[in-house]
Amino acid sequence: MHTFEFTRPKDSAGAIRAAAQTKTAQQGAESRFVAGGTTLIDLMKLNVETPSQLIDINRLPLATIEETSDGGLKIGATVRNSDLAHHPRVQKDYAVLSQALLSGASAQLRNMATTAGNLLQRTRCVYFRDTAMACNKREPGTGCPAITGFNRTLAILGTSESCIATNPSDMNVALAALEATVHVQGPKGVRAVPIGEFHLLPGSTPQRETVLEPGDLITYVTLPPPIAGSKQLYLKLRDRASYEFALASAAVVLTIANGKVTRARVAMGGVGTKPWRSPEAESALVGQTADAASFRKAAEAALRNAKPQSENAFKVELAKRCLTHALQTAATS
Ligand code: SF4
Repeated sequence: MHTFEFTRPKDSAGAIRAAAQTKTAQQGAESRFVAGGTTLIDLMKLNVETPSQLIDINRLPLATIEETSDGGLKIGATVRNSDLAHHPRVQKDYAVLSQALLSGASAQLRNMATTAGNLLQRTRCVYFRDTAMACNKREPGTGCPAITGFNRTLAILGTSESCIATNPSDMNVALAALEATVHVQGPKGVRAVPIGEFHLLPGSTPQRETVLEPGDLITYVTLPPPIAGSKQLYLKLRDRASYEFALASAAVVLTIANGKVTRARVAMGGVGTKPWRSPEAESALVGQTADAASFRKAAEAALRNAKPQSENAFKVELAKRCLTHALQTAATS
């Protein structure tokens, strides 16, 4: 049995101090912060995660949702997914986020899962979760059996020769479309990271999934002020209607005036190795008539660089239809 220490600090500084006291390893693997535990505890049971210290951050004052001075929203790291999804401001001004959260997991899991934990959700690649198998993400340099093996659910955008794992989160896709910022406190101080820079492409180091350094603690996420009159939608396509990860999903935030798209933010899930913002789709939309032909062109642009694997070529067309339908539905809502 793998043993570990359990620490319960009362504030962020104490949590960061506790993390610094363990030996630093890649991505702080020796020491892990835990709140809802809906990913981490599962992976510890599978021996995929074997931290020497668990730092329980549930007592930290990070569970509030507050309005920012510019009219945006500040979401604490330990705000539960269900509380965030049902918050009146989120439902009114950031509907795409509420919809994405409610499309994920089950009600019980959403009651436990947190904002920061969701940002750090790990892939569902079956090889990653099976310690009997090789996996570059879990054990760098051992290989990627998914490339020639089971890859139906894996990524078609942002892949590398080392890893083709999909980022499984729905929330992260909505945060990408909303241009959220992740706020981090660590041994070197505090910093703010735009969501688009927070997750990393696998490249040759798939074990490194985010820009977090050892001991870094996510403290909160901010959303910019809502765009007046924007139309928002999260559409998720999956093998079954609930408690299932996306095969393809789309988060769209559109502004339309006089029948033309004046502003577009588009992100996709289930297809990328990170939450997949698509500037190609956004450029294809702005200035165009808000109709089915323009939406399909944008979807073609979003998937232009798709690189399907042996079992998931169907995702290319599925993702195009998902995005086209999301844009059409949002535009006519
Ligand atoms: Fe591991 Fe990534 Fe390959 Fe899956 S796709 S086996 S996570 S290296």
